[in-house]
Amino acid sequence: MKTNATQAANPVFDVVVIGAGPAGLACAVRCAQLGLSTACIDNWRDKKGHNSLGGAYLNAGCVATLAMLESAKIYHTLKHDIQQHGIHAEGIVLDLPQMLKRKDNIIAALQTDAADLFTQHHIKRFFGKAKLINEGLIEFSPAEKAAATLIITARHIVLATGSSPFQLPCAPIDNEVILDSVAALNIDSLPKRLAIIGAGVIGLELAGIWNRLGVKTTLLEAQDTFLNLPDQQISREAYRIYNKQGLDMRLGARVVAARKTRQGVTVDYQTNEGSQSLHVDKVIVATGRKPNSEDLATAEANLLLDENGYVHVDENCRTTLPGVYAIGDLTLLGPMLAHKGMEEGVFVAEQIAGLHAAINFDRLPSVIFTDPEIAWVGQTEQALRAVGEPIHIGIYYLRDTAKAQTTGKTEGLVKIIAHAETDTILGVHIIGTHAAELIAEAVLAMEFSASSEDLVRTIHAHPTLSEALHDAALKVKAGIK
Ligand code: NAD
Repeated sequence: MKTNATQAANPVFDVVVIGAGPAGLACAVRCAQLGLSTACIDNWRDKKGHNSLGGAYLNAGCVATLAMLESAKIYHTLKHDIQQHGIHAEGIVLDLPQMLKRKDNIIAALQTDAADLFTQHHIKRFFGKAKLINEGLIEFSPAEKAAATLIITARHIVLATGSSPFQLPCAPIDNEVILDSVAALNIDSLPKRLAIIGAGVIGLELAGIWNRLGVKTTLLEAQDTFLNLPDQQISREAYRIYNKQGLDMRLGARVVAARKTRQGVTVDYQTNEGSQSLHVDKVIVATGRKPNSEDLATAEANLLLDENGYVHVDENCRTTLPGVYAIGDLTLLGPMLAHKGMEEGVFVAEQIAGLHAAINFDRLPSVIFTDPEIAWVGQTEQALRAVGEPIHIGIYYLRDTAKAQTTGKTEGLVKIIAHAETDTILGVHIIGTHAAELIAEAVLAMEFSASSEDLVRTIHAHPTLSEALHDAALKVKAGIK
């Protein structure tokens, strides 16, 4: 894309959004829909050197993960699960370059959709780096080196520059044998043995893909406990299922070095039993993400960041500078989730337009895209018990639904937690196929302050997986686990 550095000196907009990831995109589009003159500055460069909207989510994260997981599941089914259907498939061959090409085509199509959305909404695109000078001014350095720096004036500025993978000093990324989570979705020849450092959301999602493709995959996780964020019953179920799938999950294993060798890479890690080593062909580092706030503002701008680089915001996503907002992974207001950023984008746009704007972080669903999926909303049993909240719990196993039996995807459960006196639903936790879709009903129910009885009185189609929600709700009142 050409910048307009030569066309206009000091352009002025109602809103300038910095960053075109899911949060920035959603914000820019909503601002334009509300009649605000809107520009978006983004510096993501694709393989051909062109600007590509969508940020890490589209270009190097969630979309690629889902596309690859889908392919991996099909391959695994054809290799291992198809015969029970009375279907014999021979000569099943993995064409990894084609699998990557399919993934890249999906990303390209969505990139085009995002660009079309900008065009339809007359959002001005700037390709290059933005730096906040103060509350109304941005310095824009075009990606095109020869083009002149531009000062852009904006009545409102929205910071949405996202996050990037943490570097682990003891495992320096070379993207040949020691990969970051982006390169991990572009491995073009199948390694025999793979180690993943970090069994968080990204580590588990990547492990699910490569394990399903037949790679011997080992997760090395520093913490002694497995998956701390979800309800612990779901985490235990997840551990059991992944273990059955052949994932080697080593907890209490803190990686201290990853050394390139002639055969691949040796990973040294420490456990309670002492130092251990693992020899693998490739290592993926998935040890968290950090906000992209470095060099985002001049020192004179006085933008307040915390010690980890997160931009300080209030509950309305306002930074300490008037008219400057921050959304998405850049702040600690909620977890690093694409849909959290998108909601915040709309929330901020509506505030700028002077509309009533609201966001309910307590009703934010979380999803882990493994096979099976994990999804939850609201509070966990452990958190509620810790504060002495009186609760009733209903659990329903997917294997007890006719739908799961017919599809053969019987692993998993639905857990509903309701207040013991009011019956208000306080949390819903699901592990199982299509959990990410099923959770939507729970989010809606909780948004309307539903009771478990409301779910019981809601008619669910039969046979469907959603009946597990209904039947878990039936067990809440009865107090049956
Ligand atoms: P994470 O913080 O969830 O997990 C990183 C893990 O690495 C931690 O469990 C940590 O203990 C471990 N670790 C750190 N140093 C280690 C070492 N030296 N040896 C062994 N283990 C070590 O981070 P992530 O999985 O990278 O994800 C980053 C963020 O992105 C999270 O907030 C996540 O929620 C978000 N995200 C969400 C989705 C989704 O919603 N599906 C997808 C991708 C990312």
